[in-house]
Amino acid sequence: MPNTDPNDILFERARAVIPGGVNSPVRAFRAVGGTPRFVKRAQGAYFWDAADQRYIDYIGSWGPMILGHGHPAVVEAVQRAVTEGFSFGAPTEREIELAEAILALVPSMEMVRLVSSGTEAAMSALRLARGATGRKYIIKFEGCYHGHADALLVKAGSGLATFGNPTSAGVPPEVVQHTLVLEYNNTAQLEEAFTLHGHEIAGLMIEAIAGNMNFVRASGPFAQRCRELCTQHGALLVFDEVMTGFRVGLHGAQGVLGIRPDLTVLGKVIGGGMPLAAFGGPRDIMEQLAPLGPVYQAGTLSGNPVATACGLATLKEVAKPGFFDALSRKTRTLIDGLKAAAQAEGVPFSADSEGGMFGFFLLAQLPQNYTQVMATESARFNTLFHGLLARGVYIAPALYEAGFVSAAHSDEDLSATIEAAREVFKGFQ
Ligand code: PLP
Repeated sequence: MPNTDPNDILFERARAVIPGGVNSPVRAFRAVGGTPRFVKRAQGAYFWDAADQRYIDYIGSWGPMILGHGHPAVVEAVQRAVTEGFSFGAPTEREIELAEAILALVPSMEMVRLVSSGTEAAMSALRLARGATGRKYIIKFEGCYHGHADALLVKAGSGLATFGNPTSAGVPPEVVQHTLVLEYNNTAQLEEAFTLHGHEIAGLMIEAIAGNMNFVRASGPFAQRCRELCTQHGALLVFDEVMTGFRVGLHGAQGVLGIRPDLTVLGKVIGGGMPLAAFGGPRDIMEQLAPLGPVYQAGTLSGNPVATACGLATLKEVAKPGFFDALSRKTRTLIDGLKAAAQAEGVPFSADSEGGMFGFFLLAQLPQNYTQVMATESARFNTLFHGLLARGVYIAPALYEAGFVSAAHSDEDLSATIEAAREVFKGFQ
């Protein structure tokens, strides 16, 4: 019998022309197995796949869709923008409006530059940190992802405070020889790195609430120590808030932790689902960028008028009073419900959330770093993933990814999700 599932048919077609059938690797379901769902359309908290099956969506395009899909105000803003023109390669008033909106909500940023992807923003912030300090070395943490620029695609070396090895073929070791990779939440290692290399370190880049090793928070004291050591040694503290910006709260992870970074990298929510990202910080540092300063950075589609319209309309909704209280309540309802369901079925489970971002582990205790996350057992996670998928609930197809709740998720959606999980947990025994 030929396979007639439209998702399978599309996947086969896709694999013939696109490597792995996808344009970004995690979409391929490689970690969990099975066929990725090809999305036909989406609305609110749901998307429909090629077989017209509906799913409650906890990925939301990996974070941007904080209002849910097709929010009317955003759709209207985008439709209007499209009729005015797609791209000009010349400045527009809307870019100023978006810059002003971002700066009003992120007090550590005095100036901002708009780009098209989180990768580009993080890469540019790194170059700016090096250009502004005249130093070469950069600290990043194992398990934090800052996009796929060469210097940031690095995993830890073997010893304490050693330099990293490229995580990808095609990245020469020389390109990452100035990237120090440290363990997340390991203050002793951080201190050692600054003792050994402090005068050479241009910047420290961190996801202060990490969403690329599931969901792991930097502890308050650890984040504080990052701030102190950067200040003490003249290095720039760079918060990569591509995922956490306007997602964990109106002022990002820096607002949650009460820490002022030097540079901030933003993406995802600020584009509302369109290709838009940004980086920014104090005026004197940002004015090191071309055309004013010696640090080069540019982009044909930077500040694209349709993307900025989408981002502006999204930020307007997110900034409304009570938005994050309501969103946080939904997220907590979800993870509390999942915890209770797991507990009732005797399944070890721990979970954490901030604003509209969450993570859970099939472990009694929350991990603190990448090694602990990767030591978790994946077979049960895969069973949970496929059990939920079969029940119309779409979570990230890999245990090292965070999840996202949107303003469009209703209490019924959350209850249905918890009930679906309870059924899967039952089967664990
Ligand atoms: N930084 C963080 C924290 C991210 O989560 C991501 C993407 O998931 C990036 C940077 C890269 O952003 P993009 O995929 O838009 O290039």
